Amino acid sequence: MKKAAVFLERDGILNLVRFADRRQIVPCTFRDFIVNSQILPSLQRLKEAGFMLIVTTNQPAISSGELSRAELDKMHQFLRTTFPLDQIMVCPHSDDCSCRKPKPGMLFEARSSYLVELVHSFVVTDKGSDAEFARTGGCTSVLIKSHFTAQGQGNLFVENFEEAVQKILLISGKNPKK
Ligand SMILES: [Zn+2]
Repeated sequence: MKKAAVFLERDGILNLVRFADRRQIVPCTFRDFIVNSQILPSLQRLKEAGFMLIVTTNQPAISSGELSRAELDKMHQFLRTTFPLDQIMVCPHSDDCSCRKPKPGMLFEARSSYLVELVHSFVVTDKGSDAEFARTGGCTSVLIKSHFTAQGQGNLFVENFEEAVQKILLISGKNPKK
């Protein structure tokens, strides 16, 4: 049976990041990987409403050697134990590939591998470039206000993760009960 999904950006949404000159510093060791457990109740609401929860993340530091597969695996194992995630999809490439966001490769992969119905699915992110990712994949984008987003870039613009979830539940006709 086909299912709708909420595609989640990882860095800045599921885990905390540091900033330097408004640039995001992504953790390269498990020790520096701090999960944003505040969003757990909101993720549970999406899950209870029947959405698959799929993380889509670019991790080019794998290709450049700054981040090892073993450290990444530890981070993602920890994410899976903290949050009710269905899948974590990673683009490890730093060059021209079809799975590096904003190209829609990971969305198409989710459609074929996990039978996700993209037209009823959402991309939740704090990166404006993911609006393009959602658009080319046929999903609705929900942009959370950050250094990397601006009003008008995507389909929806919200203040925080909780509001993103409220909007998704409302649009998809699920009861957005508090
Ligand atoms: Zn890739």
